[in-house]
Amino acid sequence: MKANYGYTDGSGDYYITIETEGCLKCTEHDCVDACPQDVFAIIEDDYDDLVAAVVEEHRRSLAYVCSECKPASDPPPLPCVEACPQNAISHSW
Ligand code: SF4
Ligand code: SF4
Repeated sequence: MKANYGYTDGSGDYYITIETEGCLKCTEHDCVDACPQDVFAIIEDDYDDLVAAVVEEHRRSLAYVCSECKPASDPPPLPCVEACPQNAISHSW
């Protein structure tokens, strides 16, 4: 299942999508430690499975929170995307 977290404002769409099927196969949950802004937490979903989610406090400010990882020119690989062994994390911007 795809879980989308984020928002749209006048400057664009800012969503992080987590493919939670991948999280079911993941034991290390490296996204949590890889993110310098503590964007991710592991939660129990409606089926009692442990999956990654974007923490509530950052869901309306992702453009700002992720800005250090995403310079306007020549952005490096994102720590969260690089750390995920299941390729489960994607960003809309
Ligand atoms: S590292 Fe990837 S697969 Fe593992 S919990 Fe985080 S988002 Fe899910
Ligand atoms: S882009 Fe950076 S700040 Fe944003 S979720 Fe990924 S690792 Fe965290």
